[in-house]
Amino acid sequence: MTHNRSLLTKEWYKVPISIDCPGCGAQTRSAGIVVGPSSLINAAEGSEDDVLTRPWTLIDAFAFVESLGGRTKNVEKFIVNRFHSAFEFRNDRLLSICEHCGENLSIASFRSAAMNGFVRLGQKGLLVNERMMLFASHVVLTEFHGGMSIEASSLPHPDYALMLICDAESAGGETGTIELWHSIARSDYAIVVKGHEGREMFRDAFNEDLEDVVATISDLGLVLTQLHLAQASSPYCQLARDLFLETLARFGYRQDD
Ligand SMILES: [Zn+2]
Repeated sequence: MTHNRSLLTKEWYKVPISIDCPGCGAQTRSAGIVVGPSSLINAAEGSEDDVLTRPWTLIDAFAFVESLGGRTKNVEKFIVNRFHSAFEFRNDRLLSICEHCGENLSIASFRSAAMNGFVRLGQKGLLVNERMMLFASHVVLTEFHGGMSIEASSLPHPDYALMLICDAESAGGETGTIELWHSIARSDYAIVVKGHEGREMFRDAFNEDLEDVVATISDLGLVLTQLHLAQASSPYCQLARDLFLETLARFGYRQDD
């Protein structure tokens, strides 16, 4: 176990878990975080304000995040706000929570489920590198051993860029995500629908037309609950969001908030 290091990464995975909540006793879906080999750690103690000058080293292995806190950047934005039923930020620490009662799930109660789940889903190519930069000054990691690798899952054409990630819910109350991709070269949108475990359920491409995208989502019986930009500061993503919201409004969708 690596104790209290700073972590800087653009390679991390949300690993779904399903366990019995020690608080309310119900079976709950939550998630843990695994970081990838390109992540950097900084061994120096008390280096909170020294991000630029301290030596960073590559962890060079996948590692399960036991705890994450201290000075943090983007953790709320990229983890808690996007996966709000699975995580919470409390007392400066990222916590996995029960989807029913909101109680903090102890790491001990799901560590092995998350680590095994990561290996199983990763080998099937069902995990996605979130590719968003995270920084935290107090991180404890447990490394995976044995040179494990995982297959990246992505659209077959490299010129598609991920624009939006929408939280979605089915009529039966199942949750998942819809990713909206766009290719400038092809002037083409594509959607990828994923279930709770990140398993791809459906993939479709549309010529230039967001109305077809919205119609398809509606045909699939999915309701959008939240919309996130794939890259918060990208004008390209912001434009995609504005066009998508406009199209949704034309189709009679209303925003709740
Ligand atoms: Zn609970």
